[in-house]
Amino acid sequence: MSAPVYKRILLKLSGEALMGDDSYGINRETITRIVQEVKAVVDMGVQVAVVIGGGNIFRGVAPAAAGMDRATADYMGMLATVMNALALQDAFRVNGVVSRVQSALNIEQVAEPYIRGKAMRYLEEGRVVIFGAGTGNPFFTTDTAAALRGMEMNADIVIKATKVDGVYTADPKTDPNATRYQRLSFDEAINKNLKVMDATAFTLCRDQKMPLAVLSVFKAGALARFVMGEDEGTLVHC
Ligand code: UDP
Repeated sequence: MSAPVYKRILLKLSGEALMGDDSYGINRETITRIVQEVKAVVDMGVQVAVVIGGGNIFRGVAPAAAGMDRATADYMGMLATVMNALALQDAFRVNGVVSRVQSALNIEQVAEPYIRGKAMRYLEEGRVVIFGAGTGNPFFTTDTAAALRGMEMNADIVIKATKVDGVYTADPKTDPNATRYQRLSFDEAINKNLKVMDATAFTLCRDQKMPLAVLSVFKAGALARFVMGEDEGTLVHC
């Protein structure tokens, strides 16, 4: 069997992905499905770091718009990502994958703090590292945390795993003629005004020449096929 094209990946999982069809929180069946998709690439020898979002529990933007102090709301959002990180770690445990949670906010009774060297060592040992609490700073998103940690971990690529299997020419839900981009350059994505990740995350990746991919974590085997270099999702390259 040929070797994976990507040896170390940073996978961004949105909080919403964990909800399944529920309107809030973590759906057990859904998180198990996601973990099995990730396990498949871990079993192929790919080193996996995960940045997990918090949108299934709390997002800072809406309460801030309703009058809440934005920084406070964002700290709550970051704590939501830590809850998801713990749930994900437990789901990995149940499925026989060893993972470690590192938090960008210090809550040492719950998770170890983010320490770059330690995280790198875990990856080298074949453990999945789950980064909680985003960047640790309000006014940022977990997309930006994914770009940042991806670069810090010297990952080969940042993969945004969503419900949609790539970047489309138009919204596939409303436009039946929408087609998926297989490959895109950063400049093309900007010129065509395509939303791949939030602007800060996108700019960071472009400046550091970190390739990006968007794929569906719910399409069985898509992540594994992508790391093997097959046509899945959309690859955004320099
Ligand atoms: N957040 C933050 N700083 C970060 C990452 C996240 O303040 O570096 C907060 C922010 O309020 C955000 C929430 O945590 O709305 C949840 O993260 P995000 O919205 O990125 O989660 P996702 O959409 O991926 O589920």
